[in-house]
Amino acid sequence: MEGQTKHRTNWLRKTEIPVVIAGPCSAETEEQVYETCRGIAASGKADILRAGIWKPRTRPGTFEGIGIKGLPWMRAMKMETGMPVTVEVAKAGHVEAALEFEMDILWIGARTSVNPFAVQEIAEAVRGVDIPILVKNPINPDLALWLGAVERFERVGIEKIGAIHRGFSNSAEKVYRNRPQWQLAIDFMAKRPELPMICDPSHICGNRHMLQEVSQKGVDLNYDGLMIETHRDPDNAWSDAKQQITPEVFGKMITDMVLRHGKEDDASIQHSLEFMRSEINQIDTDLMNLLGERMGIARKIGEFKKNNSMTILQPKRWKEILEKAQVKGDSNNLSADFVSKLLRAIHDESIDQQEKIMQS
Ligand code: PEP
Ligand code: MN
Repeated sequence: MEGQTKHRTNWLRKTEIPVVIAGPCSAETEEQVYETCRGIAASGKADILRAGIWKPRTRPGTFEGIGIKGLPWMRAMKMETGMPVTVEVAKAGHVEAALEFEMDILWIGARTSVNPFAVQEIAEAVRGVDIPILVKNPINPDLALWLGAVERFERVGIEKIGAIHRGFSNSAEKVYRNRPQWQLAIDFMAKRPELPMICDPSHICGNRHMLQEVSQKGVDLNYDGLMIETHRDPDNAWSDAKQQITPEVFGKMITDMVLRHGKEDDASIQHSLEFMRSEINQIDTDLMNLLGERMGIARKIGEFKKNNSMTILQPKRWKEILEKAQVKGDSNNLSADFVSKLLRAIHDESIDQQEKIMQS
């Protein structure tokens, strides 16, 4: 990211201000779509309207979307507000219907981008059509699968493609509905910096109370946009009731967002930033050298243990390492969780290296 300007420009985001997509999880009734979209338009804080027309649900017997009936409602809101509209498509038939009703952007849901056959089917359906496509991350944290879905649309000639980060399914996760694993989206941006990246805090959080915080994090990480589920009556929504907010709350949330208008062309600011980055780079180099040195000693210990028929893992020693590191970490302002993760990673590598020596 060295030397990269603070704000990216791409087909979706033309200024430093992130693009905002808002609308209900699902289109339910004509009145619900109209009232919600009108409220969003009145807030003046959204650029694009969204609604789910076909809903891929985890369990059968729940509301699976209003279907084609909802498309004229979205088209009516497009005409009335002048805002582009986007819907999710999961198969070729959806694409055909969405195009017939003049949807402006199509998005691929997380349960679809996980399946290359389904993605390919949709890609074939948009071959030769000039329509932007947004690809949500697959439900599992697999960067290649996400990039692969994007490539399928590139191969059929789609020129305007973007990604949506909506978090990853993880049964051990307690805080979020879908664990964000920000680094994965950051890796995506590093690999494809020219593609817009949108944050979907609604599906990451699964609740209202963390929405502001996660949206702000997306903005702070220089995402190109936000997708926020908005409903006239969230508590009574037919899908994702817990995470939707009213158009009024939405308007206030976007208003309260802190936009970081960095002066990327100011030479002295750039210079100070470059200086601090070079300090970080130096420290990273030192860390790598130190870790290399540590592993060298671990290998020596491995030889020693082998020659004396000792086992690799000595739980008492590991406990001692961890406790010492926690104390040191604490006095250096490092969280206990971080220190434990870091030490575990280092210890795993030591064990691997010792294991190789024991088996040689
Ligand atoms: C949605 O956007 O309403 C949706 C179904 O999201 P996801 O594909 O991220 O689960
Ligand atoms: Mn939803």
